[in-house]
Amino acid sequence: MSKPKQATTGDETQRRIRQWVRPEILDLTAYHVPDASGFVKLDAMENPYTWPEEVVEEWLSVLRDASLNRYPDPASRKLSARLHRLFEVPGDKGIMLGNGSDELIQLLTMAVTRPGRTVLAPDPAFSMYRMITIFSGMEFVTVPLREDFTLDREAMLEAMARHDPAIVFIDYPNNPSGRLFDTRDLVAIIEAAPGIVVIDEAYHTFAQATFMPRLEAYEHLFVLRTLSKMGLAGLRLGILAGDSRWLEEVNKIRLPYNINILAQLSADFALSHQAMLDAQAAAIRRDRARLTESMAALPGITAYPSDANFILFRVLPGRAAEVFERIREEGVLIKNLHRDEGLLRDCLRVTVGTEEENRAFLEALQKALQDLGAGS
Ligand SMILES: *Cc1c(COP(=O)(O)O)cnc(C)c1O
Repeated sequence: MSKPKQATTGDETQRRIRQWVRPEILDLTAYHVPDASGFVKLDAMENPYTWPEEVVEEWLSVLRDASLNRYPDPASRKLSARLHRLFEVPGDKGIMLGNGSDELIQLLTMAVTRPGRTVLAPDPAFSMYRMITIFSGMEFVTVPLREDFTLDREAMLEAMARHDPAIVFIDYPNNPSGRLFDTRDLVAIIEAAPGIVVIDEAYHTFAQATFMPRLEAYEHLFVLRTLSKMGLAGLRLGILAGDSRWLEEVNKIRLPYNINILAQLSADFALSHQAMLDAQAAAIRRDRARLTESMAALPGITAYPSDANFILFRVLPGRAAEVFERIREEGVLIKNLHRDEGLLRDCLRVTVGTEEENRAFLEALQKALQDLGAGS
């Protein structure tokens, strides 16, 4: 018997990683998710509400019949049919399901990837557009939003003419500003786009504005939705609606069983309780208004109006890290978005939680401002 080969040393491993891993991947920082155990968790745009006990029981009885020994339906037909109706996808348009909308962003991107091609989005926007574009080996082009977080239509049109992007991603409402963009600006962008345009409606249930009916008018337009922000972030289910001929192409690179049986059954079950999900969203919209108002009344705070389930706010110059840290010390986790350059300087973001969580956050924020004398 031969002796087992000696384990490679750390240095050798590093050398081999640098030899083989693509340089643009070596340059990326992994998406960081902080440990939130023990915190009031208002950092990730999750829905804070759970289900009543009898609904949980009903759900478990559905899962009892799941055939875990069998592969799931690769096309998730039952769930797809429900989503098609529920999201009012125009009759002749198709839908495709993903393991979260992140996976659909990745599949679309993979379908068009070629060296030298570009993907375009406003800045700031959802961070995955950049990450996924870079994984796939394309160049990511951004166009800064204006100071008030509105779209710079002329700059977008000019950048599209210059860079000929394969995909334009627009989050509607925008993450992190929480604002819906002007419809006319978006229409102008859609009409001028050389490739496809994806309107990412992750926060649709809080914004109640949509481009879904406009799929009829534009064959290169896609609408992206997710169940994550509706209260099912743990399930991982995203929906891409658009022209079936495009979806057939993208479907070729989707792994056949990307939506597992537990996700298919659970999503179908949850969506059969639409009234419950709607009531949760309505409570979040109501509390969003109250929270924005209370925050705006605090000294030194600018709270931006939001069409989503989170609120972007600005503190006095140079104070974001301290305010964030003080709030964390009070047991409340939010998101620090501050960057030295650009629109997000001095900015933090809080997700709208339950009334009790929002109160805890407000108290922590107030205390932080007092301690730091940041209001003066
Ligand atoms: C949260 C978020 C998503 C991600 O959704 P998943 O379905 O959980 O992958 C997509 N787009 C935007 C703009 C988001 O804020």
